[in-house]
Amino acid sequence: MLVKVKGLVIRTVDINESDRLITLFTEERGIVTASAKGARSLRSRMMAATQLFCYGSYVLYKKGDHMWVREAELAESFFELRNSIESLALAAYIVDIISFVGTEEAETELLRVTLNSLYAVSTGKYPLPLIKAAFEIRAMSVIGFMPDVSECSECGRSDGDFILMIMDGNIVCDECRKKANEIKEYVYEDSGTEAISAVLSDGARTAFNYCIHCPPERLFSFRISDEDLSLFSRAAELYTLNHLERNFQTLDFYKEVTRKDAVH
Ligand SMILES: [Zn+2]
Repeated sequence: MLVKVKGLVIRTVDINESDRLITLFTEERGIVTASAKGARSLRSRMMAATQLFCYGSYVLYKKGDHMWVREAELAESFFELRNSIESLALAAYIVDIISFVGTEEAETELLRVTLNSLYAVSTGKYPLPLIKAAFEIRAMSVIGFMPDVSECSECGRSDGDFILMIMDGNIVCDECRKKANEIKEYVYEDSGTEAISAVLSDGARTAFNYCIHCPPERLFSFRISDEDLSLFSRAAELYTLNHLERNFQTLDFYKEVTRKDAVH
């Protein structure tokens, strides 16, 4: 039986001399892994559409327990992701998250957010930390970890500086925080029974809230100061790693290449 899907290549593994195993994040069936026979041969019409970050239409068939690619037609290669090591590193982290959280269920909003994020990275129009944080927060919200950052969870105020309570998925204002026990910040590795939290300025909280609720195609269309962006991105990353309960090598690599003193 032939299966037609539209999807994004989020992982590739080369097998023997000419074949390639690809993992697709599809519109219709979520994550699908399939072998593309001869895909690495220069004469193969499948070559272009079976590379990492390619989005296209794929005709698959099942043989035994395994899926195979019969046809592959490229729609978008996001080629410009390869223009800089920083862009490529962020794109790799984005698809790494998807490989980890994706299931065999269709998740069209998450696919759209992923495609929009890769596109945003490829255009070079937005700061990478903004794209990264917006993607993290929206992806986490879509898969069921949507935080409520609209108002203080204790007193209901909605302006001023806040603390994001990572595992509770809500915020408390400075005043309520002072009343509560002392809260310290921890990175994932150090987290134990104590509360993990991150500071959110008013601007950072507004960005956070925007990324949860805006239309997916407007995900990066907001302005934020450098100072707020740094709080926003720190909170988004802490939130993501702690809810997914892991770190990512692709994230370490992204941090490595975007360090201010990194040598390119
Ligand atoms: Zn409060």
